[in-house]
Amino acid sequence: MVDAEPLDAVVIGAGFAGLYMVYRLREQGFSVQGFERGDGVGGTWYWNRYPGARCDSEIMFYSFSFLPDLEQEWPLTERYPGQPDILRYLEEVASRLDLRKDFTFGAEVTALEFDEAAGRWTLRTAQGHQVTARYVVTAVGCLSTANQPRFPGADSFRGLTLHTGNWPREPVDLAAQRVAVIGTGASGIQAIPVIAERAAHLTVFQRTAQFTIPAENGPLDDQFVALWKQNYPEWRRRARHSPAGFAYNPSITSAFEVSAAERRAAFEAAWGAGGFTFLSGTFRDLALDEEANETAADFVRSKIDEIVRDPEVAEMLKPRDFPIGTKRLPLDTNYYETFNRPNVTLVDLKRTPVEEITPAGIRTSAGHHDLDVIVYATGFDALTGPLEALGIRGRGGRSLRDAWREGPRTYLGVAVPGFPNLFTITGPGSPSVLSNMPVSIEQHVEWIGDCLAWARGHGAKVIEATEQAAAGWTDHVQQVAGHTLHPKAASWYMGANIPGKPRIFLPYIGGVGNYRDRCAAVAANGYEGFVTSGEGSGDHGARPGDHRAA
Ligand code: NAP
Repeated sequence: MVDAEPLDAVVIGAGFAGLYMVYRLREQGFSVQGFERGDGVGGTWYWNRYPGARCDSEIMFYSFSFLPDLEQEWPLTERYPGQPDILRYLEEVASRLDLRKDFTFGAEVTALEFDEAAGRWTLRTAQGHQVTARYVVTAVGCLSTANQPRFPGADSFRGLTLHTGNWPREPVDLAAQRVAVIGTGASGIQAIPVIAERAAHLTVFQRTAQFTIPAENGPLDDQFVALWKQNYPEWRRRARHSPAGFAYNPSITSAFEVSAAERRAAFEAAWGAGGFTFLSGTFRDLALDEEANETAADFVRSKIDEIVRDPEVAEMLKPRDFPIGTKRLPLDTNYYETFNRPNVTLVDLKRTPVEEITPAGIRTSAGHHDLDVIVYATGFDALTGPLEALGIRGRGGRSLRDAWREGPRTYLGVAVPGFPNLFTITGPGSPSVLSNMPVSIEQHVEWIGDCLAWARGHGAKVIEATEQAAAGWTDHVQQVAGHTLHPKAASWYMGANIPGKPRIFLPYIGGVGNYRDRCAAVAANGYEGFVTSGEGSGDHGARPGDHRAA
């Protein structure tokens, strides 16, 4: 399966990002081929099929803006789209744009090597494909490499072992089963209430209690949908220039500008309305000021007391280890309520850690839990994991893993010095996971498409971010994060969930709108921070002392 004819570009991944990137490059006249390890399109929504999987972005914002017909035709049924709906949406996009013919499915990229003399990449897959291309664009998602803890004895378990991020395509019947869920992040919090309804017994193994806010999911009113669709262009415009890719106005009031009673009323109203506006829509300083943050955290803890009948269980569920919002705030449907069910048990792993997994279940320091199914809801090696897994080797054969040993260094989260002609959609250092993903993906895809067209127009063989630009951007990403409470949490944003991973704030928290402006300015200044080389490029932008071979 060796492709002799070099391509202009390869794109890795067939989720929102990969589908749009392949389409965009094809429309721009580049020869392009997509590679996807799954057997179909969908990316995140292909792999995360666990019970209760749903998007926490409201459906009106969770779609492409570049398909106005589909935008009008696609039914906006419920407030938050479920995994099957989003997968159907992406399948429809792939069909309408005739994209499947441009992808190789079931192809897991294991090596990407840059040939400095030719200025091209060679891609290899575990299935034996090999192609060369001028450009590589990664569209591998930020949360696609599962974090699978290795408990002693894990392989001896005789029952079924599952991971939320890699759920089987065929239905899993949990009825009458004794199920464990390990992990209480956004995935566990969505899965636990649904599994509890199906299973004979559910044991939740919690290491760190999480804050969660009601999603208040439900059907959307026809009139609301009609009005929304009429005004779609304006909603989209606002989302693009907002802090997080939604068209809502953040609060401009400090938590301490109002009385305690008014504060409580504001939190109560936001809790009742459901969704992320609990933080951004109530008070402006919750992400910045510990005392202000504590007022929101206290409110959620008081809600746990109201909802959970057993005071001991309520106490175990109360988060106390980190400021609210500094770990991704999950949205839930009946999460705390689930712990009132007679068939649900909560185990606090900090008090009674897992000692081993046995053929029949899980043994903690307090005793054995007999189980038929173990569900790992233990998250992902976020942002860097999916990129490092591609076996990328740039200039001098240096691996990306080695280049990022101290943490990722990127320019705008989209390019890496030493790895020319490689572009990373929603890479580390971009708003990515702190934003509504389709908005950030569209911005990156369009920016990368324009950049490649510009490079082609300038006859460049190679375009590469400079060390200086990447160092400046990486510092800026950390500085902005340092103004918030985020670095205080042992979160996956900080790489803290993966043993040995450097502690560095991975996404860019400066806001989607600001980031967009910054990228636009870089482009307007002739791709400032990049150097090009090659026939006809006139070594555009090459800095003194830059003697790289073209
Ligand atoms: P996560 O937020 O990283 O949560 C993983 C959970 O597993 C945490 O409770 C963690 O505990 C626990 N854990 C990890 N290793 C463990 C170990 N060795 N022993 C015991 N417990 C362990 O992962 P996630 O829930 O899959 O969510 C990841 C991200 O995916 C979310 O933050 C969100 O961005 C995205 N997501 C989005 C949606 C949505 O839009 N609806 C849904 C699901 C996920 P500690 O806290 O102690 O580390």
